[in-house]
Amino acid sequence: MNAPGRHVVIVGASLAGTKTAQGLRAVGFDGSITLIGAEEELPYDRPPLSKDLLKTGWSEDFAGSVRLATEEELRDLGVDVLLGNAATSLDTGAKTVRLTDGAEIAYDLLVIATGAAARPSPWRPESGVYQLRTLEDAKSIADRLERGGSLVVVGGGFIGTEIAAAACSRGCEVIVVDPIPEPMTRLVGPEVAGSLVELHRRNGAQTRFGVGVVDIEGAEGDLTITLADGETLHADAVVVGIGSVPHTDWLDGSSLTVDNGVVTDGFLRAVGVDDVYALGDVARWPHPGRGALVRAEHWTNAGDQARYLAEAIVNGTDSPYAPTDYVWSDQYDWKVHAVGWRDPEGTSIVLGSLDEDGRVAVVHADAEGNACGAVTVNWVRALNHLRRLLAAGGTAEEIVEQLRQRA
Ligand SMILES: Cc1cc2nc3c(=O)[nH]c(=O)nc-3n(C[C@H](O)[C@H](O)[C@H](O)COP(=O)(O)OP(=O)(O)OC[C@H]3O[C@@H](n4cnc5c(N)ncnc54)[C@H](O)[C@@H]3O)c2cc1C
Repeated sequence: MNAPGRHVVIVGASLAGTKTAQGLRAVGFDGSITLIGAEEELPYDRPPLSKDLLKTGWSEDFAGSVRLATEEELRDLGVDVLLGNAATSLDTGAKTVRLTDGAEIAYDLLVIATGAAARPSPWRPESGVYQLRTLEDAKSIADRLERGGSLVVVGGGFIGTEIAAAACSRGCEVIVVDPIPEPMTRLVGPEVAGSLVELHRRNGAQTRFGVGVVDIEGAEGDLTITLADGETLHADAVVVGIGSVPHTDWLDGSSLTVDNGVVTDGFLRAVGVDDVYALGDVARWPHPGRGALVRAEHWTNAGDQARYLAEAIVNGTDSPYAPTDYVWSDQYDWKVHAVGWRDPEGTSIVLGSLDEDGRVAVVHADAEGNACGAVTVNWVRALNHLRRLLAAGGTAEEIVEQLRQRA
């Protein structure tokens, strides 16, 4: 769809939204762009929040390093930025977005990039429960870690385990709780999960896996966490990292299809309406490889979708969005990378060993034996080869053979 001279309104001023605005200008869009953000902060990057910020604490240098764009850069791009002003409703008939301050913004094309929020904690003691999604959240957790003491992390996903690692490195006593018996399997697969758990234990974290939290009572400095098996844990603070929920409340009553995210077609066009797109963590789109709707919550996906969408809006395209499915995590000094996906019906081939070589690559095959994804730990060279090899296609065995020769 060519859109010269038209008004693109982008709701959500974070990674997907900001990269869309920048991408539109990069491919020559000369219409007006309005970028609307609920947060007061200029657009910033989230991955460093659970990594560097928690390890080193807040500083002005850190703030500068995570900015996705400065005020001047956005001004120079001709982007009107409205921050601290959330979209509260959408009228696709009138093609307007209403904001918290009552303003109504008319659009020719609307881009929904409202991301996700931390899934709210079901436990609400007087104080002492933290969650991590925003810079403000990260600053409070960093302050808490600076004071030391004991911390229970509820949730053994990427964010929970990164927080646990940061807390250990700052000398806190840490226990990670997750109702799933082997939560780290979700992150790295069964071949590597045991080593990752060991890594956490070696660094001082305790774990309670396979048992959920029933209740949290008390207040910061004196919290009691009751587990489903009757054990009680005591901690100064708790961080609850139990997933995310897409920011779609403001779309209630609009004619969009919302089902665990804004449902789009393969071109990121919102299903059921014209001139509305969605991307990033809020969008649920048909994944060509998995044959299902997917809401990817990965940094690379948000940026790739933004570039794709900017090009599609300005120059049009016949090709649906093709994801790279790439995610990384820092756990202590280990670098974990995943590309593609793991097919539950498929198999996996392991190359290297964390115990013997300090690095490993696991290549996943689908049910037909074709390579569909890989995980590497501490092996960036293998990862780079794998990204190229997986894109070119082949059986998992062929790809492992080529990797043996190259990495
Ligand atoms: C702590 C943390 C660590 C992470 N680490 C990694 C990592 O190591 N690797 C990786 O691949 N991914 C990581 N991610 C995920 C990655 O940051 C997200 O995939 C990415 O931020 C998605 O970008 P987005 O713009 O779609 O959504 P978001 O970043 O969630 O941004 C959405 C923006 O929209 C705003 N908004 C919401 N509702 C409204 C509204 N109604 N009106 C206006 N604005 C609104 C929000 O305030 C927010 O600023 C991490 C995420 C977090 C939180």
